[in-house]
Amino acid sequence: MAQPKHHSVETAIDEAVDVCAERAFAFLEELVREPSLPGAEQGAEDILAAELERIGMAVERVPFPEAIEHDAAAGVGPGPYDGRTIVVGRLGRDRGRRLLLNGHLDVVPAGEERLWSSPPFAPSIRDGWMVGRGAGDMKAGLAMGTLAIEALLAAAPGREPPMTLVGAIEEEQSGNGTLASIRAGVVGDAAILLEPTDLELLVAGIGVLWFEVEVFAEAGHALGAGPAMGALTIALRVIEELRRVESELNMLGGRERHALNVGTLTAGEWQSSIPSAARLGCRLGFPRGMAVDEAMRRVRVAVDRAAGAEPAFAAPRVRFNGFRAEGYELPADDPLVAALGAAHRSAHGRTPAVVTTAGTTDARFYRNQLGIPALCYGPRVENMHAADERVELASIVAGARTLARFLHAWGEGS
Ligand SMILES: [Zn+2]
Repeated sequence: MAQPKHHSVETAIDEAVDVCAERAFAFLEELVREPSLPGAEQGAEDILAAELERIGMAVERVPFPEAIEHDAAAGVGPGPYDGRTIVVGRLGRDRGRRLLLNGHLDVVPAGEERLWSSPPFAPSIRDGWMVGRGAGDMKAGLAMGTLAIEALLAAAPGREPPMTLVGAIEEEQSGNGTLASIRAGVVGDAAILLEPTDLELLVAGIGVLWFEVEVFAEAGHALGAGPAMGALTIALRVIEELRRVESELNMLGGRERHALNVGTLTAGEWQSSIPSAARLGCRLGFPRGMAVDEAMRRVRVAVDRAAGAEPAFAAPRVRFNGFRAEGYELPADDPLVAALGAAHRSAHGRTPAVVTTAGTTDARFYRNQLGIPALCYGPRVENMHAADERVELASIVAGARTLARFLHAWGEGS
């Protein structure tokens, strides 16, 4: 059916996006108010399920089985698994090429609340930005996705594109939520992850490894301590050796930096006792193309070098307790890059940049496990994983204009 001459589908999409935007912001506010920390995502999953139903999608819940940890592509999750599900919404007929949209609902902890200008789980809007933990990474992307779908269904009624939206969990730690959805058969022919990208096309990520190191030392009364600090001294030496690994990895080349983050450090239990045990929680980036096993080997060697020679009642322990993510990449000349770029150009008059990240995203599973084109496209955010995380509301609207055009073209072409 041809559109009336002066009312193209693009115009109808833009009008519908404007009409539906306030409702999308309210949905986002509701999501941010839900502190969906790892293991506690179900409240946010319920809010997403209700919104998907409201905009006309068929909603289903995919189980999150404990067995996912035995999958060769999995990371290590915090558990437990009971009662945790992944919300999946579907649209369109069963046959033909199916598009996947994916966004994660889990957020990282708020950190030091005194650094926030408003409480992290009480979203507040200031100067066109919404502040709150998870507002940017990445609940805003889900609001952008539902806004685009709702607007498209209003602008082009009866022409539902075959698509599936996945509300993933545990993205910030293992990626096992998206992996579990794939293993449960939630698959498609291309995937767009609604991660914040400043409306650029993010096509590649590096490898990311999480590990915890425990080191031990003969302890004693503080009066015998001298300059030694028992296990804490060894822990500091471990950090030095891990820094050496970090520079070796960065000397191997590549566009992105491979960063070591020591995110947690605990040692000792009494101020007048030499610490007998210390524990480090680390995240290490490693080059795309390097196997996870090789990155794990380098970590083990570094820890042994730092702690091995020291007299202690137990050998150092390394536990890989989260991401075991290999790098991934979508070639910049893939048709998906061109198609989403064209939709962005149609909405905003210019071609978006193609970028990569020094971290990872769940796009790696669609690339490395399913072998389908996958990239990230989402709103403009600031202070991810920090205090006063925020998203620019106008970028949600702008991104929805692009995405609705893309979904329309996808539906017409399938
Ligand atoms: Zn994210």
